[in-house]
Amino acid sequence: MRIDIATLFPEMCKSVLETSVLGRGIKNGFLEVYAHDIRLYTENRHRNVDDKPYGGGTGMIMAAQPVYDCVMALLSLHRTRPRIIYLSPQGETLTQNKVRELAAEEGLILLCGHYEGVDERVLEELCVEEISVGDYVLTGGELPALILTDAVARLQQGVLPNEDAYSIESHYTGLLEFPQYTRPEVWRGKKVPETLLSGDHAKIREWREKMALETTKSKRFDMYEKFVAEHPDKLLPKKHGKG
Ligand code: SAM
Repeated sequence: MRIDIATLFPEMCKSVLETSVLGRGIKNGFLEVYAHDIRLYTENRHRNVDDKPYGGGTGMIMAAQPVYDCVMALLSLHRTRPRIIYLSPQGETLTQNKVRELAAEEGLILLCGHYEGVDERVLEELCVEEISVGDYVLTGGELPALILTDAVARLQQGVLPNEDAYSIESHYTGLLEFPQYTRPEVWRGKKVPETLLSGDHAKIREWREKMALETTKSKRFDMYEKFVAEHPDKLLPKKHGKG
C-alpha cells in the first residue's frame, strides 16, 4: 500500500513516520508513506498558499491552485487511481470498520487542511471523501492524517507480528478487549486473575471472552447492546439487583 500525505507541514509527519511500529513497518517495506509539501506547488513568487476569505471573517483559507496541483502530481505517482481523502471535522467519523475498508486499498492520498480550511472549489474538483477523527476541531489535518495512517498501517501484512495482534483488540469484532496483565504476579497487593496463571488455554479463552463482554458492557453500553443484538447467545446473565 502507498499513502501520500499532502500538507503544508511535512516536518510534522516525519518523526511519527520514523518511530516505533509504524516506522519499522515503513522501513521494512510493508507499506510506503510519504509527506509532500503543498507549498512547493505554488505559482506565486512569495510561495503564498493561503488568502483571506471572500465575504470577510477571521483566519486564512488555503488556496485552490497549490492544493490542486499538488494532489494532481501525487495522483500521477499511483498505478491505479487512489481514493483522495480530505481530513475534515465535517467528514464521516473514522471507525475501525472504515479503517479496515481503507486498509484494503492499494493507495490513498490524504489531504491536510490548515488555518480555516481549504477553498471549497478544490474539494469539489478533486471529488474528495471527507473523514473526521471526532467531533472536535484541531488546528490542522496532519494529526488526523497520521492517526488514519497509523490505524491503516497496523492492518498491513507484516507490520504486526500476526493477525491476532489486531484481530482480538478493541473494536475489531465490535467489542472492547479484555483486561491485560504482565509481571509481577502481585503488585501493590493486587493479584493477577487466577485463571490467567492456570496454563489452561480453554479456560483462559473463556475468561477473556467473558471479560471482553463485561468490559464492553460497563464502558460502552452502546457497543454491548449492538453486539448482543447480533449475537443473542452472548448476552451476559443479569446480575442480582443490577441491569
Ligand atoms: N473551518 C473548518 C470548519 O469549521 O469546519 C475547520 C478548519 S480546522 C481549524 C483546520 C483543518 O484541520 C481542517 O481543514 C482539517 O483538515 C483539520 N481538522 C480539524 N479538525 C479535524 C477533525 N476533527 N478531523 C479531521 N480533520 C480535522
